Amino acid sequence: MPSFEEKLVQAVRRKRETEGLSIRALSAVVGVSFSTLARMERGEGQPDNNSKIRLLQWLGAEAEDAGLGFDNVAFVHFRAGRNIRSSTVDALLGAAVCLRREMGAKDGWKHQEDREDRASGDGVSLSKEELEETAERFRSDLGLAHDDALDSLRIDVEGVQVVPIAKTTCIDTTTMGELRGNAGSEWSAMSIPLDPENENWVVLLNDGHTVERQRVTVLEEYWHILLGHKLTKIARVAEAFGRTYDAAEEHDAYYLASATLLPKIAIVNAVNKKRSSEDIARTFGTSPELVEYRIKRLGMWREHAGKQIKLAPE
Ligand SMILES: [Zn+2]
Repeated sequence: MPSFEEKLVQAVRRKRETEGLSIRALSAVVGVSFSTLARMERGEGQPDNNSKIRLLQWLGAEAEDAGLGFDNVAFVHFRAGRNIRSSTVDALLGAAVCLRREMGAKDGWKHQEDREDRASGDGVSLSKEELEETAERFRSDLGLAHDDALDSLRIDVEGVQVVPIAKTTCIDTTTMGELRGNAGSEWSAMSIPLDPENENWVVLLNDGHTVERQRVTVLEEYWHILLGHKLTKIARVAEAFGRTYDAAEEHDAYYLASATLLPKIAIVNAVNKKRSSEDIARTFGTSPELVEYRIKRLGMWREHAGKQIKLAPE
């Protein structure tokens, strides 16, 4: 069996020659350097992950024919650290297949969706004002006042089922122990779309984390879905491929998660009253780190840090 890399090299050379492209011309098309491509074709070196992804995207359907394409790219979004190991990814992907089946997802739509998505370009991003307004509307729709804490683990979003790993039958006891224990720090959630329209989702949640952390995790995944973000980007995660959102969309979802948990007026008031990050965090059921992120986004870090400023006498 040729390795993934060998199959990739062969498929790239085949398509390049069919299209009559020189290595230099291919380099311009895919945005991978000439020297990387030349070395790769001579079998002298491996392209890095980003180059591999670009080549896979360029290959499109041909990558699938060669048995290395998007076919093997899991249609899931990992919320995971860079340190995630392939055993963890494998365990999660296994759970994704099972969860999809349990939730009655239709099969056979993945390939089509891939092609549409690739043509649709980059994601939308919102201005800061829009983000603040969006968070405020969400909170008021939940019936919350300015200074109410929000336990986001209690929110019910139509079409989205949040499954804490301890509650799923899709993971055996040993794997579950591993995912919540040794591998617990490697991942916080995995979102799985159940239909091509991305209307229904399952979010597998790492409930081995603190509730404070789970609250942000769940909200960020909700926001991706509620903002209509698409899993367009392909990312290598350990030895497998998964999906990611556009970087701007990642920013928006995280910003909104923080703004939903830590409402603007309440945070501004708390900073003006010189309350500590820990104290504010306790009130709103978040981590102090999230409070500090929020204070910085609101431009109030100077006040929070208590830095005195004054004009020198004339
Ligand atoms: Zn995200």
